[in-house]
Formats: sequence, structure tokens, C-alpha cells
Amino acid sequence: MTEICPLMLKITVNAIFSCLKTIMDRDNKSILLRELLSFMQFLFKDRGEGSLLNEKLHSYIEGLISERNPLLTEMENYASVHHVPIMELAGIETMLQLLRIHRSHRILEVGTAIGYSALRMAYALPNSQIVTIERDVERIQVAEQFIQRSELSHQITLIKGDALEVEDVVKEHALFDAIFIDAAKGQYKKFFEIYSKYLKDDGMIITDNVLFKGLVAEPEIETKRIRNLVKKINEFNHWLLNHPDYDSVILPVGDGVAISKRRGESK
Ligand code: SAH
Ligand code: MG
Repeated sequence: MTEICPLMLKITVNAIFSCLKTIMDRDNKSILLRELLSFMQFLFKDRGEGSLLNEKLHSYIEGLISERNPLLTEMENYASVHHVPIMELAGIETMLQLLRIHRSHRILEVGTAIGYSALRMAYALPNSQIVTIERDVERIQVAEQFIQRSELSHQITLIKGDALEVEDVVKEHALFDAIFIDAAKGQYKKFFEIYSKYLKDDGMIITDNVLFKGLVAEPEIETKRIRNLVKKINEFNHWLLNHPDYDSVILPVGDGVAISKRRGESK
């Protein structure tokens, strides 16, 4: 992975492809060019923008998902313009469906960002109470404004601070039916260890970004920072799927969503 702007890379690659195709159309016998073209297509295989699926299927699935209300659409646009990594559409729809089936009522979220996923949960589950943690001051302000405008503020409690430090505040709101982990990827194990203590016996933990754009399966990653992050996610995934107290599965939806269910009797 290089740090080149993805759009520029895409434009450049597309331009090279169309040049090669034009030459090929003129001279079909050029084996060398044909080989070169297929090699480049292999190298730059289009997997869809930030998607684990190919672009066609990704667009097809997203196209079937119904429009969100104007406020949520505004939030999606805000996130896109300001590069806020809100959960991907198919991933969040999957999570909401699981929460409905599970009848989650009290939910803890680690990583509010601008409040998009918290509001999606509040809209999808009208009787739910969502406790959500965010440490970024600017995002907290934006989240507060959106939550206020949604008129669902009675369903959402925003805890301001680092999730590694606000356990005592969160504790006051326990126990939870579900916990959604969607904050700093390098800290997933810590978040899980701290907050799983406050999960009901038959509770569920959902963790986002566990496939990290498919990079978890790449044998070689150039950038050191990304390589270290991928290593941490891989370690978390192995730890999670071998956890003695949880049954877990990774769904290749959105950016990879892990669903963990506590083993044991429901109360
Ligand atoms: N769940 C949101 C997206 C969250 S993005 C949605 O889908 O709409 C991740 C957020 O986690 C960022 O805003 C980041 O500031 C926050 N974050 C990362 N590490 C954190 C930590 N240790 N404590 C609190 N917030 C954290
Ligand atoms: Mg995420």
C-alpha cells in the first residue's frame, strides 16, 4: 500500500488501461500488450471504493438499501466531506438487523464520531438507550448538534473522554444488551476487555473494521504504520475467535464486522 491519493491512482490507472485497449483494438496480435494489460488488471483489480466486494455487487447491495431521512443523509454527506469514518452502509444495516433480532435495549458504543451510528440505532430501535463514548472535542460538538436536531436526545447519552479512562462513568449505565466497538483499531482488545464486564449474560458484542479493507489478508504491507495496525487487528481477530467465553463470527460485510455472543445462560 502506498500513500498515493486513491482518486489520482484510479484516474491514472484508468487512463493507462484505455490507452492499452485502444492499441489492442488496432493490433489484436500484440501478445505482449495483452499480457501487460491483464497483469495490470490483476495488480489494480477494482474491488470497489473501500469495499470488500467487487464494485458492481457493492453498488447493487447499496442500491437496494432504502434512503435515509434528510438528517441522516446530511450526516452521511458531512462524513464524506470531512473524512469521518462512519460505518459503511451495508455494515450498519447488518448491525441494526442483528440488534433488532436480539432485541437489544441498552447499547454501549465505543466511538461516536459525529453520532451517525448512534442515531441510526436510536431510529431503528425506538425503545433503546444508547450510551456512546467519544474523545475528539470537535466531533463531540458536531455529534451534539446532530443529536439535538434529531429530537432523539432522550435516547442518547454522550460520554466525553477517552474510552480507556471513562469506565467509572460508563459503569453507572450498565448493564448492556449489546456493545458496539468502533474506535481506535489498535485498542480493540482493551476496549473489549474493559467493557465486556458490563455486558449481560446473553449479550452481544459487535466490532467494526475487523477486515480493514481486506488488508488483514495481505501478506506484505509497505507502510509501517498500516502494517502495525493490521498486525494488531489480526491479533485481535485471533484472540477473539479463540476466546473461551464468546462465540464469534466475522462477517465480510462493510469493512468486516465481528459478532460475538457471550456463552452462557440467559437470565
Ligand atoms: N461509530 C461511528 C464512527 C466512529 S469513527 C459511526 O459509525 O458513525 C471512530 C471514532 O472513535 C473517532 O471519532 C475517534 O475520535 C473515536 N475514538 C478513537 N479512539 C477512542 C478512544 N480511545 N476513546 C474515545 N473515542 C475514541
Ligand atoms: Mg468503523
